[in-house]
Amino acid sequence: MADLKPDQGFIDQLKGEFDLLVIGGGITGAGILWDAVNRGLRAVLVEKGDFASGTSSRSTKLIHGGLRYLEQFEFGLVKEVGRERAILYRNCPHLVHPEKMLLPLIRGGKLNRLTASFGIWLYDRLAGVKRNERRRMLSREETLSLVPLLDPEKVMGGALYIEYRTDDARLTMEVIKSAVAHGALAMNYTEVIDLLYDGAGRVKGAHLLDKRTGESMALNAKAVVNATGPWVDFLRRMDHSLDDKRIHWTKGVHLVIDQKDFPLAHSIYFDTPDGRMVFAIPRDGKTYVGTTDTDYKGSLEEVRVESEDRDYLLRAIRHLFPSLSLAPSQVESGWAGIRPLIHEEGKGVSEISRKDEIFLSPSGLITIAGGKLTAFRKMAERTVDLVCAQLGMGKEKRCTPCRTEYLPLSGSEGGVERFEEKEKEMIRRGIEEFELTEKRARELFSRYGTNVGEIYALIRKLNQASDREEERLIEKNETNHPLPDSDVGKDEGISSDLLAELRYTWEKEFVYTPADFLIRRTGLLFFNRSLCREIFPFVSERLTEWNGWNERERRRWEEEMIKEFEWGDTLYA
Ligand code: FAD
Repeated sequence: MADLKPDQGFIDQLKGEFDLLVIGGGITGAGILWDAVNRGLRAVLVEKGDFASGTSSRSTKLIHGGLRYLEQFEFGLVKEVGRERAILYRNCPHLVHPEKMLLPLIRGGKLNRLTASFGIWLYDRLAGVKRNERRRMLSREETLSLVPLLDPEKVMGGALYIEYRTDDARLTMEVIKSAVAHGALAMNYTEVIDLLYDGAGRVKGAHLLDKRTGESMALNAKAVVNATGPWVDFLRRMDHSLDDKRIHWTKGVHLVIDQKDFPLAHSIYFDTPDGRMVFAIPRDGKTYVGTTDTDYKGSLEEVRVESEDRDYLLRAIRHLFPSLSLAPSQVESGWAGIRPLIHEEGKGVSEISRKDEIFLSPSGLITIAGGKLTAFRKMAERTVDLVCAQLGMGKEKRCTPCRTEYLPLSGSEGGVERFEEKEKEMIRRGIEEFELTEKRARELFSRYGTNVGEIYALIRKLNQASDREEERLIEKNETNHPLPDSDVGKDEGISSDLLAELRYTWEKEFVYTPADFLIRRTGLLFFNRSLCREIFPFVSERLTEWNGWNERERRRWEEEMIKEFEWGDTLYA
């Protein structure tokens, strides 16, 4: 894979005219970049923060079959997401895992035995669910034995249906890496501050601001796609094309609780006292619960879990799990994201469709709005079809048909075929050759899939460097020694596998700031807050060295993490 750092050579590559500029590095923009480069387009993506720093790291992390869309009779959507889910599982097995979800049927709840049974039956057919994954209705006793914490007074029975778990930010990263490996360019910390037009008023590129250096540059492109999720209307305003069709922001919050306080062995989709439904999902020794769905009018730059969001979810937990009596201090962390929905007059937040829509402005700016993480590949196909039609108009370029349905993503090379064998082999190597615990070897594989081999190579390099240093010190009989000046670096406060992981993400996954690593690449802030806090100084020190920051720059790029810690301390203490 090419070196991804934005060095001078990289900036030079921005010269000349691109076929396509994609604005926004969430899952929507990433999917479009991946599709476009596979159709032979010269494509570039720019993201103003880190990749997936918007909604795409703040979802429920499910590849949905779309059960809840049945309520709104969106049969087409259920069918599409069901099909997309199967494709994604085939192409990205290291990040997409089938998970049985329990739907308890409770007294006074949203669903009874008949509606649940029919609804899931229909969902299984529409979403093309495999025979062995189809719904199973449960008795009251079976339901309580699966999740004994449920209130026995309320439970009348249950149903099991299939969902797929993922990691949204990692999925976005793997899509971007796949696109880059095929020749696309992608830059984080690069903001579109203005659009460029030709004499006829057609959009032909953008002015970019490099947030690391403060420099700006012009980038020319024949087609421009606005894939900025909750921000799409800002770009449409920049293009003077904002009309009555607007984005409606709703906020969704999740809380993370340790398994010792919320010992849940099975994922569950359950009723809230106000007639909604939320998920509780076990992951990495924690249980995460969400989501809320409330109108949002605040700043998009700092979307926070507020005390009322926290209290709402705690009430929902108490409603069905009264024996837990959880206090705010037992919440370890959480996240809040904004749904970029397409406004529908007169509809309540939970009734607005989750469908995507493409707007074409008079200048030719293509905006893709709404949608789901699950359907990103199909959304990209529709968008790039339109790009190709635009490019074809000038007879300048012909696109090949969309191929992404058959392309495994980075980290899942070879797709789902014989994937389990590869997984076992890589985990075995981690344990035997690199002395990792089984838990750690599994964790690395679940994040990086088959690319974990590159992390192993870095661990070997680090270990060799430290062996050489030890020999040198023994020969010289020195005890008080400086750290070795190796290519990778070494740190007394961080294990070699963690340092190798950091280095890998810095070299190959565009990590620039501590938050890129601790939030988006590893999810440590959410799922292991204490380790996150512990290693933050070391991560920051290494990145300061590798990025060549001075003290002022270090403080600036540490800020996102510090604010997260401070906010968490006020909310979860
Ligand atoms: P974003 O991820 O927000 O990306 C847009 C990017 O554009 C941002 O990173 C932003 O920094 C960048 N940007 C903005 N302005 C500029 C500019 N001027 N220049 C450069 N870059 C710019 N979907 C599912 O399928 N499954 C789920 O379980 C699920 N759960 C959800 C739970 C919640 C609480 C929420 C809020 C959503 C959920 N969704 C789920 C929906 C899904 O997360 C979103 O549809 C998806 O992440 C949107 O991705 P995006 O790329 O369109 O937007």
